[in-house]
Amino acid sequence: MEKHIPVPNGMTSFWRTQPHFLDSHRSTESLPQECDIVVVGAGYAGASVVHHILDQINPRLKSPSIVILEARQACSGATGRNGGHIKPDVYNGIAGLAADHGVEAAAEVAAFEAKHVTFLKEFIEKESIDCDYSVTRAIDVQLSRDHSATLKEAYEGLIDKGCEATKKAKYIPRDEAEQFSGVRGAQGCFTYEAGHIWPYKFVLHLLEKAIAKGVNLQMHTPVSGITQSTPTTSDLLWTVNTSRGSVATKTVVLATNAYTSSLAPQYKEKIIPVRGTCSRIIVPPGSTAPRLTNTYTLRWNNWNYDYLIPRADGSIVVGGARPAFINDLDSWYNVSDDSLVLEPAVRYWDNYMQRNFVGWENSHAYTDRVWTGIMGYSSDGLPHVGHVPGQKGQYIIAGFTGHGMPQIFLAAEGLAKMVLDDVDFAQTGLPQLFESTHSRLDSRQNKIFASIPGSGKPQARL
Ligand SMILES: Cc1cc2nc3c(=O)[nH]c(=O)nc-3n(C[C@H](O)[C@H](O)[C@H](O)COP(=O)(O)OP(=O)(O)OC[C@H]3O[C@@H](n4cnc5c(N)ncnc54)[C@H](O)[C@@H]3O)c2cc1C
Repeated sequence: MEKHIPVPNGMTSFWRTQPHFLDSHRSTESLPQECDIVVVGAGYAGASVVHHILDQINPRLKSPSIVILEARQACSGATGRNGGHIKPDVYNGIAGLAADHGVEAAAEVAAFEAKHVTFLKEFIEKESIDCDYSVTRAIDVQLSRDHSATLKEAYEGLIDKGCEATKKAKYIPRDEAEQFSGVRGAQGCFTYEAGHIWPYKFVLHLLEKAIAKGVNLQMHTPVSGITQSTPTTSDLLWTVNTSRGSVATKTVVLATNAYTSSLAPQYKEKIIPVRGTCSRIIVPPGSTAPRLTNTYTLRWNNWNYDYLIPRADGSIVVGGARPAFINDLDSWYNVSDDSLVLEPAVRYWDNYMQRNFVGWENSHAYTDRVWTGIMGYSSDGLPHVGHVPGQKGQYIIAGFTGHGMPQIFLAAEGLAKMVLDDVDFAQTGLPQLFESTHSRLDSRQNKIFASIPGSGKPQARL
């Protein structure tokens, strides 16, 4: 079986150009022989689970010993190379979930995602985390009249059925859309609360705090396999194997997103590694281009869209570029190499702002850097959170389908309750659709390919 593991030489994203002093940290020279909890993966999910476990520990009880094993540098996976956009979905993918699972279940996901924007703001302020977090408005711009009409109908349907999060989004009709958004040719848009962040700085803050509380962090330590310990009578149920030795543990948390199937083969066709592309655009000093204050999604149809955040330093981070590579399936689907970027995806960003934004024609905006990252697309579009079905003592938080920023922090809070206090998934407050279940693992559905009739082209949610 082909194994997807992080390649050692992923390309440098803008976010990782200023490495934190813990980037390659190892708390101890050799691995502890045993511990209570091993978390595999030091991205947003792994760091958040550890944060919430530490936060929920009863101070009167003995703290569990925790080891984090990370294949490369800290936050060097998708989190360290994404678009930094924290944009809850309140009407687009949510309409699809409502059609498949009912409005109540879909509304639960929408509310959960929307809650992240304020929750993160309060947390980041409380902890004084230097991570450029900004609460803003998302403007979702439709550039096709037909697609705009389809989305508007879905949006109105959700409002009629009482989806509270959808009610907070405002629709801007065609005759006002271009002026409202500043996007040339806008056929309609939606606007609602969203955020943006420097994800690497946020995650490194969580890891630094975890180390201060005694967590053992081990970078450059790829896990090669997880086996049942012998004798099986011990409460150290699992042995986590690496080239630097093994750790015996009671509990394993898989925060391995795109790479999960290499350690848990039952997720092989359930979480598929998919290559995404982002760029950073620079606006030269003295440019007369209008300053952007909102975040954007520019959507040409249901599979072709870009997402964009303006940064306080005047630069713009924008991801997408799907038309540049979507027809070359082998270049982006079921691949785990983030050391290269496809040439058409580099050229895609040439004059991007000049082409799409009113008043930017003479801005001289130019591309500073293009990078790739590997996302974990789940076959049903939903993350897998909770127990690994049938594997006592193993938990998962993965499969965020290019959309983890408004899902992971609170998903980790719920998972921490399960890990620490053996709380049932149903009691965690997490959206019921996120639970990793036998029936999801048994399903043969692959929605990644289902969205575009006749074309076979996959769709993501961001
Ligand atoms: C180009 C791009 C743009 C994106 N833009 C956005 C966006 O703007 N907004 C948004 O919401 N989402 C976006 N996403 C998705 C988002 O980044 C992810 O959903 C999120 O970061 C997932 O976090 P994670 O911790 O689960 O995964 P990761 O950050 O990938 O962390 C998993 C970690 O596990 C480690 N690991 C895996 N296997 C092993 C092993 N065997 N041994 C040891 N360590 C292992 C990896 O090295 C990695 O560090 C984007 C993703 C990409 C790639």
